[in-house]
Amino acid sequence: MYDVKSMKAEEFINHEEILDTLKFADEHKNDREMIEQIIEKASQYKGLTHREASVLLACEDEELNRKVCQLAEQIKKDFYGNRIVMFAPLYLSNYCVNGCTYCPYHMKNKHIARKKLTQDEIRAEVIALQDMGHKRLAIEAGEDPVNNPIEYILESIKTIYSIHHKNGDIRRVNVNIAATTVENYRKLKDAGIGTYILFQETYHKESYEKLHPTGPKHNYAYHTEAMDRAMEGGIDDVGLGVLFGLELYRYEFAGLLMHAEHLEAVQGVGPHTISVPRIKHADDIDPTAFDNSISDEIFEKIIACIRVSVPYTGMIISTRESEQVREKALRLGISQISGGSRTSVGGYTEEERPHDTEQFDVSDQRTLDEVVKWLMEGDFIPSFCTACYRAGRTGDRFMQLCKSRQILNCCHPNALMTLQEYLEDYASPETKSVGEKLIQAELSNIPNEKVRTKTIEYLAKIKEGGERDFRF
Ligand code: SAM
Repeated sequence: MYDVKSMKAEEFINHEEILDTLKFADEHKNDREMIEQIIEKASQYKGLTHREASVLLACEDEELNRKVCQLAEQIKKDFYGNRIVMFAPLYLSNYCVNGCTYCPYHMKNKHIARKKLTQDEIRAEVIALQDMGHKRLAIEAGEDPVNNPIEYILESIKTIYSIHHKNGDIRRVNVNIAATTVENYRKLKDAGIGTYILFQETYHKESYEKLHPTGPKHNYAYHTEAMDRAMEGGIDDVGLGVLFGLELYRYEFAGLLMHAEHLEAVQGVGPHTISVPRIKHADDIDPTAFDNSISDEIFEKIIACIRVSVPYTGMIISTRESEQVREKALRLGISQISGGSRTSVGGYTEEERPHDTEQFDVSDQRTLDEVVKWLMEGDFIPSFCTACYRAGRTGDRFMQLCKSRQILNCCHPNALMTLQEYLEDYASPETKSVGEKLIQAELSNIPNEKVRTKTIEYLAKIKEGGERDFRF
């Protein structure tokens, strides 16, 4: 039976409840009155239930769908402004004991080269990432208790935080590793991680078990209940996601929102981020073998519907998506993107993009500098800010900042200052000139006069005094 507060996977992500939800959505997909009421509720920024959100996703009326997209753009502007947080993935190891049928790291793949970075190799990768300008990483690893035990992950995090090359500095390490124990989550928390990210892949239990035929990841309940264990271990910020293409997207969408509702109900705070990866070609993986792939139009609709349903949750899009898709997605609600990514183990220290250990093909192959310039030309502010988590504004404290609309007096100046650092230390001359103008123009959008004056002072210290790492 469905119970949002249950700690059992099959009760808080309940199959019958999802089927009923989809039936309800089908019955009301042309119910103008109901859809307008749902849009009206969402426009008060209170979020939507999985049922309401599923009706919006099913809606076939063009005009109403346009309204949902407009509202998504408005919510994006009101909560997140035009800032886009930048990050890069760092692949530590592709050793894996699981049998995930969509991932080239699956155990039976004898063709892919297996590699695990040593601490010295991690140092080299981190220096390469710092030299690009990155301040925030998401570390990635396959699941392998012998090759990649938690001690290896913890040591790697320590190494990453310890490296300060020139003005470089990794200030936030997010972690995307397999579901683990409360004890291990506590160790990750103590190591100073930012968000713990774990994609559900699919919320459909039967499909999940088929897609993960072997290895510890086969256990649906253990995987689905991981975020509760992470929070029990003291991690405030968790990142959800499904791998679109594996199952019917409407099923996944309902499951994703039910998961967010569960975390809010039980832990008192919803997910910090939601990622929207789509399955891609990789080594021995052919994405057409999975017949639930979604068009770009549906993908954009999903992003807009997530945006209006969970207005306080950040949304992440990776370089799995092309420049064109990312452009639209940014306007509809994405608040964080990766740039200059390499999805191979040890890829950042190679001159040419290596493919032999790659997890998936990267669609957006531009450099970080090109992505930064492109964002600014589209009137977005690329932000390298990591202040919230370093100032202890995680979990519900971050949500409070969001809800009290203080973001413009806090995140906005922080974004401008970290962008200024990027321009000074890493940008090409063309990017620098676009950025200088943008920062000047954006200063006037800081409402609080004292904060504005302080920001101008800090910006001068960054430019002229060579000082770094100011934050509100
Ligand atoms: N191994 C970890 C786990 O079990 O959750 C997570 C790390 S894995 C490197 C990160 C994510 O990449 C996976 O959760 C999956 O959603 C995604 N992924 C795997 N194969 C993919 C593919 N062929 N195309 C796109 N994304 C893929």
